[in-house]
Amino acid sequence: ERERPWELVIHELKNNTRFVRLADRSGTQAAEKMRVDFVANASHELRTPLASLLGYIETLQDGAAKDKKTRNRFLEVMHGEASRMQRLIGDLMSLSRIEAERFRPPAETIELGPLIDEACQATCATLGTDLAQIRIESADKSVAIAGDRVQIAQLVSNLVGNALKYSPEESPVTVAYESVSETMVRLVIEDRGEGISPEHLPRLTERFYRVDPGRSRSMGGTGLGLAIVKHIVERHRGRLNIESEPGVGTRVIVHLPKNPPTLSSARNESVTK
Ligand code: ADP
Repeated sequence: ERERPWELVIHELKNNTRFVRLADRSGTQAAEKMRVDFVANASHELRTPLASLLGYIETLQDGAAKDKKTRNRFLEVMHGEASRMQRLIGDLMSLSRIEAERFRPPAETIELGPLIDEACQATCATLGTDLAQIRIESADKSVAIAGDRVQIAQLVSNLVGNALKYSPEESPVTVAYESVSETMVRLVIEDRGEGISPEHLPRLTERFYRVDPGRSRSMGGTGLGLAIVKHIVERHRGRLNIESEPGVGTRVIVHLPKNPPTLSSARNESVTK
C-alpha cells in the first residue's frame, strides 16, 4: 500500500460512540526521516576516520613501526584523523546543546565589537591564517544585543571560518556590524572567494550538506557549520540570508534582535533608585 500523508484515527468514547479524526502525518514523517538520515550520516562520518585509524594501527603492529620515518608519517596521519573525529564530535555536541536550549531565550548582554574581535582572532589562530586578512567595520561605536555569548561567538567563528576556507590566501574577508533599527542589528560576513552556485543555496544549512565533500574535508570541515549557525540564529529569533555568485564571492547576512527595550529600561530604573 502506498503511504498516505494522512491517516484515520478512531477514538472510542465512553458512551459507546466513536469519534473519527483525520490526522496529518506528513510533518512527523518528514521529521522522523530527517532524524534517521542524521544518525546514519553522523555514524558514517565517524566510521570513516575510525576505519583509517585502525588500518594504520594494524600496519604499525605488523612491523611498520620499526622504520622511524614510516612511523612518524603514520602518526601524523593518525593525528589528523583523530582531530577530524574530535571536531565532528564537538560540532555534534554543539548542535544538540543549541537544540536543547531552543525554548530558553538567551539573555546575556553582549557588546558585539569585542566579541567579534575575539572570535576573529580565535578563528585565524585555528586555521593558521593572518588576522590582517579580515577587515572589521562598524558604523556604530557600540552595538549590544541580548544573546548567548558562546553561541554568538560560534556563529561569527563559523561564518568567518568559511569565508577564509573557501577563498584564496590573502583574499580579503569583511565583517561588518551595525544597528539597523530600534530593535535590530545586522551582521554581514563577505568574501571574494569561489562562491556557491544558486542550486546549492537552499540546502547549505542542512546537516552534512556540502557543495564539494572532498574539498570541505580537506579544509577540516565537518559539514555542520552552517547547520549550527542556522540553529543559533533561530534560538535568537533572528534571520539568516546567504547570497553568492560563483567566481565572485559570498555574503552572509544575519539579522539579530537587540536588547529588548523593556529589559534595559528596567535596569536603568534600578540604577537610579
Ligand atoms: P563545512 O564544514 O563543509 O564548511 P558548512 O556547513 O559550514 O560545512 O558549509 C556547507 C558548505 O557550504 C561547504 O561545504 C561549502 O561547500 C559551502 N560554503 C559555506 N560557506 C561558503 C563560502 N563562504 N564560500 C563558498 N562556499 C561556502
